[in-house]
Amino acid sequence: MKERPSFPATGAIAPRAQTVRAKSGVKSTTTSPLVQKPGPQQGYSPIQAAGEWAVAHQRRLMDRLQADPHVDPRVVQAMGRIPRHQFVDSALAAQAYEDTSLPIGLGQTISKPSIVARMLSLMLTKGPQPLGRVLEIGSGCGYQATVMSQLAKEVYSIERLKQLHEKARSNVRTLLVRNLHLILGDGMLGFPSGAPYDVIVSAAGGDLIPDAWLAQLAVGGCIIAPTVVNDGSGRAPSQALVVLEKSLSGVKKSVFEPVQFVPLKSGVA
Ligand code: SAH
Repeated sequence: MKERPSFPATGAIAPRAQTVRAKSGVKSTTTSPLVQKPGPQQGYSPIQAAGEWAVAHQRRLMDRLQADPHVDPRVVQAMGRIPRHQFVDSALAAQAYEDTSLPIGLGQTISKPSIVARMLSLMLTKGPQPLGRVLEIGSGCGYQATVMSQLAKEVYSIERLKQLHEKARSNVRTLLVRNLHLILGDGMLGFPSGAPYDVIVSAAGGDLIPDAWLAQLAVGGCIIAPTVVNDGSGRAPSQALVVLEKSLSGVKKSVFEPVQFVPLKSGVA
C-alpha cells in the first residue's frame, strides 16, 4: 500500500502534485489599487493589509452571506480571511466583492461568492466533522480551494488546464496556506494518491458523477457536484447541485437548487 503523505504533505506524493508553501505577505505589485506592499510577518492578515477599500467591501459581502440561512457561519469566517481580489485579474479587482462570477481566462470563471458559500456550507453540514482530507475538482484560480484550506485539515485541488493550474499556484503562493496541494491532472479520475476523501467538491458540472469519485470517497463522506438532472417533467435536463452521501448501507442522492457551472471535461490541456 502506498504510504500516506504526512501533514503537511510535500510535493512528493505524486509526480505532478505541488504543495504550496506560501510565504507571508501579499503581492507587492502596484497594478491593483487594492494591494499594498507586504505587511508584518507575524499575525498577518492579507485582507487587512489590502487596505480599507477591500476590507469594507469584503465586510459588506460577508454580511450578505451571513444573512443567508443556507450559509454556515464558519464558511463566512473562512471567506472573510481570504482576499478574493488577489485571485482575479487586477482589472477586475474592484468587482471582487460583488456577488458575481468573474472570468479567470480560458473561458473559465471563478464561482460567485454565494455559490462558494453554499457549496462549502454543504461540505460542512453533510461531511464528517472535523474534516480530514478533501478534494476539489477544478482549481481554477485557486480561490475556493484556499477557502477550503481554512475548513479542512488537508485540501487537494486538481485542475485540467495547465495555465490555470499555474495561475492558481502563483495566486496562492503569497498567502499563508500550508495544507493545500494543487495538482495538474484530469479530475474526472479523481486523485487516488490522496484518497479516501471526506468530501469531494466539484467546481465543474458533468452529465454524471464519475465512479472514480465515489470509489475515492470515505464511508461517511459526501460528494457535492453540479450535475445534469432530468426532473422527468418533460423539460430539457438542466444542472442542479447534487449531493451523494456514502454510508455502509449504500449511497444517498439529494438534489438541491438549479445551478450553472462550467462543464466538466476530460483530459489535460
Ligand atoms: N474553484 C474554482 C472555479 C473554477 S471553474 C475557483 O475558485 O476559481 C471550474 C474549473 O474546473 C475550470 O478551471 C475547469 O478547467 C476545471 N475543470 C473542468 N473539468 C475538469 C477536470 N476533469 N479536471 C480538473 N479540472 C476540471
